[in-house]
Amino acid sequence: MSSYAARRTALRQALQAADLDALLVTNLLNVRYLTGFTGSNAAVLVDASGDDASVFCTDGRYLTQSAKQVPDLERLIDRPCDTALASRAKGRLGFESHHVTVDGLDELTAAAGKVELHKAGGLIEKLRLVKDEVEIEALRMACAAADRALAALIGHGGLRAGRTEREVARELESRMLDHGAEGPSFSSIVAFGANSAVPHHSPTDATLHTGDLIKLDFGALVDGYHSDMTRTLVLGKPADWQRDLYDLVARSQAAGRDALEPGVKVSDVDHASREVIEKAGHGGDFLHGLGHGVGLEIHEAPALSKAGAGTLSAGMAVTVEPGVYLPGRGGVRIEDTLVVRESGPELLTLTTKELVVV
Ligand code: ZN
Ligand code: ZN
Repeated sequence: MSSYAARRTALRQALQAADLDALLVTNLLNVRYLTGFTGSNAAVLVDASGDDASVFCTDGRYLTQSAKQVPDLERLIDRPCDTALASRAKGRLGFESHHVTVDGLDELTAAAGKVELHKAGGLIEKLRLVKDEVEIEALRMACAAADRALAALIGHGGLRAGRTEREVARELESRMLDHGAEGPSFSSIVAFGANSAVPHHSPTDATLHTGDLIKLDFGALVDGYHSDMTRTLVLGKPADWQRDLYDLVARSQAAGRDALEPGVKVSDVDHASREVIEKAGHGGDFLHGLGHGVGLEIHEAPALSKAGAGTLSAGMAVTVEPGVYLPGRGGVRIEDTLVVRESGPELLTLTTKELVVV
């Protein structure tokens, strides 16, 4: 059975548990998750009774592509897909209420006729929380592309005095493409010197100076899966305060990674990491959550934060990314992408976490 068919089987169990006869899937990422289709317009009607009764829909632009990518479901070429599929449904039809707009619901209601529409938002997102091995392999490749791009950037002297943040961001992104990425998984953060104290700094024309902290937060996209890593380096000899800050964040990050175990509350993982920074008197300088899930989206569940709900399960892919930011001086963040495993977390980001001095 293909991984897509296995995911549809898992969804069918969720549909039966929710007492639904079918689910109309309109979130394109969820369509991709269930079928492998990568085009820009599609929907799928997943019938609780099996693939034989399920229908995939896209428009004429994707006639050839959909035949190749979705050979195992009945295909409908029509537009708009959501109402075309709703008009074919019977019984109790779930729809992705977290995705359908108010206007879209009016259209669905008109198309569904006697079919009973039921809110079923988030059913697939719940399945997506735990990655299968095909997904983890894509994440592994995405992490490797980012690791290799950073090594090549450093190896080719890309981090030298006088370069701008924008230039470095462009080179990093182009090197990720060289190493197998379809693209960057989000707009890269490149921050020099005092700019590194801004957690989500956008690259500017600011130039790199000897003695600057260099914060790089970036990731690669492979097979639709996003990697996410941050490294903070120093150009030239680090000052004592830079080394101390780095060591503190590195200890916090290690504590967060060590806490990644199935069954542990996500808020406890945040606490394990945050406690290290709080004890050092810098709790007020760590102003974001510890991490987030990654997969078909760069930020997805679970959120590893103080307010995060739920517990970890084996197969979840998450980031661990504490940071301490000293306004006007500089900041350090260290971020890896990892998979929660029964035997201890699997690290997908393999770049060293020793302080790199360039
Ligand atoms: Zn990041
Ligand atoms: Zn992140």
